[in-house]
Amino acid sequence: MPVPIIMLHHVNDFPDPGIADWSIDTEKFKLLLDIIEHKGLKTTTFEEIEERNGAIHQKSVILSFDDCPAALFEFAVPELLNRNMKAVFSIPTAQIGGYNSWDMAEQGFSKVALITTAQLQYLGSKDMEIASHGQHHLRASQISAENFTEEISASKMIIETLTEKKSTYLYLPLWGCTKKLPTTFKADWLQVWPFYLPGERK
Ligand SMILES: [Zn+2]
Repeated sequence: MPVPIIMLHHVNDFPDPGIADWSIDTEKFKLLLDIIEHKGLKTTTFEEIEERNGAIHQKSVILSFDDCPAALFEFAVPELLNRNMKAVFSIPTAQIGGYNSWDMAEQGFSKVALITTAQLQYLGSKDMEIASHGQHHLRASQISAENFTEEISASKMIIETLTEKKSTYLYLPLWGCTKKLPTTFKADWLQVWPFYLPGERK
C-alpha cells in the first residue's frame, strides 16, 4: 500500500523573506492535520514501517520536516503531540543546534536556529523519527561520490549515537535532482541507498 509523504520545512506565521517560500502558517498546518484526522489516516514513520517489516495496516501518511528549524517547537511539535501524531525530522547533522548556514551562503536567507541535540532526543523519546539530511546540506550533483558517502556515513553515525537507534533513512537535501547525477555517481548512490552501510543490510 503506497504511503504519501508530506514534506514540510517551516511552520511560521511571520516568516522572513526567503523562508516564506518554504513555510506554511499555523492555520494551514492545523488544517492539514485536521484533514489527516478527518480522512482517518494514521501518521507513521519509516522506522515504524520497517519495524513491521513493511506491513502497513491502515491508510497511513508520513509527515516530514526537512532542515529542522527550532521554531517547530513553538507550534508544530506541540500540536503533533497533542494529536498523538508522528513525524520524521531530518536535519543536516553538522548543524544540530546550529543554523541554516547553507541557505544563508547560497541564497541570502535570514539566519534560522535549528533543533538541538536535546530537542532531537526529546522527539525520539516521543516516537518521532530522526532522519539524516546529510552532514552539511550539500548538493549531491556538485560533490564527488566519496564526499557523498562521507556525508551520509557521518550523519548516520551522529544520529545513531544521539538516538541510540538504527538510522536508515536519508532525505536528500536540495537533491530532487538525482536524474541529473552522472551515471557513475548514481551507481554509487544506489549502493548506499537506503542508507545501510556495508554489512548492515538485512
Ligand atoms: Zn533541506
